[in-house]
Amino acid sequence: MSADLYFDSSMAGQTDDLQYSVNYADAARHIKNFLEKNTYKLLEAAAEQTARSILQNYSLVDHVRVEIKKPWAPILLPIDTVSVRIERSWHRVYVGLGSNMGNKKENLERALEKIRADETCRLISCSDFIATKPVGFLDQDDFLNAAAEVRTLKTPGEFLSLIQDIETDLGRVRTIHWGPRTIDVDILFYDSFIMHTETLTIPHPEMQSRLFVLEPLAQIAPDVVHPVLKQTVRELYEIAQKPPAVSG
Ligand code: ADP
Ligand code: MG
Repeated sequence: MSADLYFDSSMAGQTDDLQYSVNYADAARHIKNFLEKNTYKLLEAAAEQTARSILQNYSLVDHVRVEIKKPWAPILLPIDTVSVRIERSWHRVYVGLGSNMGNKKENLERALEKIRADETCRLISCSDFIATKPVGFLDQDDFLNAAAEVRTLKTPGEFLSLIQDIETDLGRVRTIHWGPRTIDVDILFYDSFIMHTETLTIPHPEMQSRLFVLEPLAQIAPDVVHPVLKQTVRELYEIAQKPPAVSG
């Protein structure tokens, strides 16, 4: 078994202070204890859970490579060992939240609390809660919107499942598209990933035209660059605020 732990060592390098480094002996003991306490049938599961445990317990470590080997004794094949090697990281996700039914402030707080309570997520920061007018279907109550920065071990698909569970738990019923909702949580950015599937588009395809997304996001992530449009959130927010040019 071997593990490579990656972290930003610049503070440790500059200050020579132990609190900015990872105690390697302690990490090695942690891995040994973890694998003694937990048994897995599959090498894949052992590697996955070990990687997760390192990332969850050593907050400075943002990326880990784990390899687990075992002897293999096949008949008539010249192979001594088999191994599984995986790499896992914390990912940075920005989410947009909105509510326009019931106690809106409480709905946003409860959604954030559920993200915070998930052991594979860390809530890093949150914008102000900002009151906005509805867009699209206009005959509905005003919205309260926010944006939050989350670190997560989840894949984009797993993160989408989490936010959909939160929406369901908080009583969202999908009726009118763009209609009233107790809570809407959208993935705006996931690292600088670009993806498009039937169920998930990242970055969120409408974010650059939605002031109710850009205003709170610009509070917490003004310098983050949109990986497709190659503009910062601050720039996108400024452009979205300008009235459309009239020609002719
Ligand atoms: P909207 O957020 O546009 O008002 P919904 O919340 O009803 O609409 O989302 C409809 C679907 O959008 C979801 O079922 C989800 O699969 C899909 N979707 C695509 N990309 C994203 C994204 N980046 N974040 C959240 N949902 C997304
Ligand atoms: Mg949504």
